[in-house]
Amino acid sequence: MGRFILSCLLAHHFLQTVYAAPIEDHSKRIQQDQRRFWHISDLHLDPTYHVTEDHAKVCFSSKGVPASDPGLFGDIMCDSPYQLIQSAFHYMKQVDLQPEFIMWTGDSPPHVPPDELSTDIVISVISNMTHTIRQFFPHLPVYPALGNHDYWPQDQLPTSTNAIYQAAAKLWEPWLNAEALGTLREGGFYSQVIQPKLRLVSLNTNLYYSPNKATVNMTDPAGQFEWLQNSLERSRQNMEKVYIIAHVPVGYLPYAKDTTAIREMYNQRLVEIFRNYSDVIQGQFYGHTHRDSIMVLLDQQGNPISSLFVTPAVTPIKSLFEPYTNNPGVRMYLYDSLDYSLQDIWQFYMNLTEANEEKVSNWRLEYSMTKAFEIKDIQPQSLHELASRFETPQSKEFQKYFSHFMVSYNNTIACEGKCKATQLCALKFLDRDSYSKCIKSVKEDRTSE
Ligand SMILES: [Zn+2]
Repeated sequence: MGRFILSCLLAHHFLQTVYAAPIEDHSKRIQQDQRRFWHISDLHLDPTYHVTEDHAKVCFSSKGVPASDPGLFGDIMCDSPYQLIQSAFHYMKQVDLQPEFIMWTGDSPPHVPPDELSTDIVISVISNMTHTIRQFFPHLPVYPALGNHDYWPQDQLPTSTNAIYQAAAKLWEPWLNAEALGTLREGGFYSQVIQPKLRLVSLNTNLYYSPNKATVNMTDPAGQFEWLQNSLERSRQNMEKVYIIAHVPVGYLPYAKDTTAIREMYNQRLVEIFRNYSDVIQGQFYGHTHRDSIMVLLDQQGNPISSLFVTPAVTPIKSLFEPYTNNPGVRMYLYDSLDYSLQDIWQFYMNLTEANEEKVSNWRLEYSMTKAFEIKDIQPQSLHELASRFETPQSKEFQKYFSHFMVSYNNTIACEGKCKATQLCALKFLDRDSYSKCIKSVKEDRTSE
């Protein structure tokens, strides 16, 4: 199956589904001064997904590996069937939590070899996802960020205008203003005031992503650092608060020791900027890892100054050698309508195995962050205190956090020793020096045992 079939399948992909998701009444829990928004990420539509006898042929994104237990809503070896994405949006619509807007942090195309895709196919997948979202939420503003898969060949997002940035700007015209569309077309990033005194900054962190050959040796790809600094400075002067969104997160990966997702020198630069403007930035929202994790940025003295969140993916895909994956997830943030400080996360998910068995969509609440961990909000101080509780040996709360990391995919997998150390160092230490110290201190602890 090649390009031709993939593009044909894309043209006809608005199927009807039977939905019977239980409606939970969350409205009682909403407080007066709180508002809400959705965050979705990593939809990774695989238009070739279809349930068939030969499990090696269920989806192109499994790359010939047999699907594990394919059903109506997908399989852990495959990217999202259209049905899964529809069921997520259908649920978000019917829970009716009256959100103000949607953040969408990228990655629409499937994980398939580059020859299966092309610039045109990538644009048509982004277009399909854009129109699907607009069909479900015609009156909601949506603020997208480009992902490393939203380009052909993948990861190679350029520092100047090209067919894909231009197509994205055209597709997202109903959601963004002229200034935002201008920088999106040129460099794949933008900023826009989205509520009174609240600016959203959508970064193209794919320019800093390690596999991006287009930016090797550049000190400021597409001039985005300078632009970011100027934007934050302007916001400070205008007394605006800022939400940062991007696909590839800053900091260290919670599952791979000593590894940043973006190149280390860019990571250092971003951390420095985020430290300098922590009074302006009220939250940072990322995707890319497909897992659910938090980070809290500390200043040079070790005080918590910024909350960062990585939202889990809608796609349940995993590679052959990964021991676990994530259930499909979407989340809602609650924020204070006066100062835009973040109050809570409501994480929703689909138990994929169960949904496939019963052939009904079963989206429901996985957890509320403040309830699950008995914290008063999700601001830096609260996350920092929570991180300290995770550090106690055999912490039940950390085990819960790790189960959330997998979107409740498997509650019996434990994360101890090296696994836990890697998670916890990444949670609090985003720059090279403090992260290395953290990893080193764990090693010394071990040798003194
Ligand atoms: Zn992704």
